[in-house]
Amino acid sequence: MKKDIFDEIIGHLRELQTQDKTTFIAPEIVNEFFTDTQAAPKPESVSVPAQASVPADPVDPAIASMTLEELNSSAQKCQKCPLCTSRKNVVFGEGSPNADLMFIGEGPGLDEDQQGRPFVGKAGELLTKMITAMQFERKQVYIANIVKCRPPKNRNPLPEEANTCLPYLQRQIELIQPKVIVILGAVPLKYLLNKVGITRLRGQWDSYNNIKVMPTFHPAYLLRDPKAKGVTWNDLQQVMKLFGKVHKK
Ligand code: SF4
Repeated sequence: MKKDIFDEIIGHLRELQTQDKTTFIAPEIVNEFFTDTQAAPKPESVSVPAQASVPADPVDPAIASMTLEELNSSAQKCQKCPLCTSRKNVVFGEGSPNADLMFIGEGPGLDEDQQGRPFVGKAGELLTKMITAMQFERKQVYIANIVKCRPPKNRNPLPEEANTCLPYLQRQIELIQPKVIVILGAVPLKYLLNKVGITRLRGQWDSYNNIKVMPTFHPAYLLRDPKAKGVTWNDLQQVMKLFGKVHKK
């Protein structure tokens, strides 16, 4: 994959870490990366505005008491929606069951369907770089999707498919209890927060069941429109700041 803003940030992080063992990204270094992107980063501290929390729908009683392992095995056998007929693998999700940070995308693509893992194709490579640039390791976070089976031809999940699958994700969130959820793109925005307009709402803190939510662009969109990486990086920095990963001034 061509080098991008996240490669540059990761490269500088590694350099800086070898110098003084402190992990940070200096604002002047970040600014360099924004010369050809849409907007400059906001180095000032971020306050999280009070938001009306979107209450989760009640979790399906059949799965409300399941552990993560039980939930996974139930999903592996699931035939609740038509996506079960064309899938090769159920992509349940992966990462730390104690993750403070969770990423939610829309659904598995071809690579994910073949491997049974979320975000392993080109968009997955970019997401891994985004996570690394945020000074997390991929294994420290949890990654899941709105639907666990691949929609044919990578189309968006239909409302009935998304709504049928949603209880699995709701229970995953309930069990993992992340401090922050990063929503990747319009599909999770629609089905998790019941909102439309990712371009308008990205970068604005929201809330799901009292968990802070940061909507931003999906990595697949960033592959199509690399200029949007700049504003996406702004969004991710807001999340980093909540975790104390601030830029040194
Ligand atoms: S997408 Fe979800 S609800 Fe549909 S078959 Fe797969 S696991 Fe079941």
